[in-house]
Amino acid sequence: MIGSSPTPRRIGILGGTFDPVHIGHLRGALEMVEQFALDELRLIPAARPPHRDQPQTSAEDRLAMVRSAVAGVAPLTVDDRELKRDKPSYTIDTLESLRAEVAAHDQLFLILGWDAFCGLPGWHRWSELLEHCHILVLQRPDADSEPSQELRDLLAARSISDPQALDGPGGKIAIVWQTPLQVSATQIRQLLASGRSVRYLVPDAVLAYIQAHGLYPASH
Ligand code: ATP
Repeated sequence: MIGSSPTPRRIGILGGTFDPVHIGHLRGALEMVEQFALDELRLIPAARPPHRDQPQTSAEDRLAMVRSAVAGVAPLTVDDRELKRDKPSYTIDTLESLRAEVAAHDQLFLILGWDAFCGLPGWHRWSELLEHCHILVLQRPDADSEPSQELRDLLAARSISDPQALDGPGGKIAIVWQTPLQVSATQIRQLLASGRSVRYLVPDAVLAYIQAHGLYPASH
């Protein structure tokens, strides 16, 4: 690592399919930047997400939409490493490769929704994640997933009640209460499939990209 700064950098990581990216992702990301004084928050589009249906749209288009969404918004950046990898997008691989690029004292914050967190024991090498990062779990008032016993044990051992007090490069879990905007990519795909507008649910640049490339065509 060349030129590591004396002050640890605080880097957030938000993975997703982003099919397409929408204002829920972007507002949530910006709020995390402000709440945790992050120097940077990387949106990392997944190539072949191991835990869900395959995206409708090509990696190239999803990446281009995320890039256009964050253009000019300094703390939000796009990291395309998962799209360059010729295998499933395992978060542990992403964290290991990111760790190799940042200073040892830099702080990585993996942002996960509560539902994703509850599914963690199904992830590849999940128990090693905290060796590389902190985990910020976004809890929402209407969440209904239940953590398994092993996750409850992990929370008992690793969670801290004041997320502002997370220190060191990684190893801890904080629950963050956030009321998300009621927007999902599924809803956006459904609106477009039925020929309806998604203006104001996605940034104008993303809307323009969808229109210019004929993505998510109406199905009637
Ligand atoms: P889909 O509807 O296709 O499942 P999605 O809208 O949930 O997609 P993803 O790309 O799967 O989008 O989400 C990536 C990340 O963004 C996840 O961690 C998810 O918790 C978070 N996220 C999704 N929607 C919102 C929202 N409205 N507000 C804040 N965060 C969100």
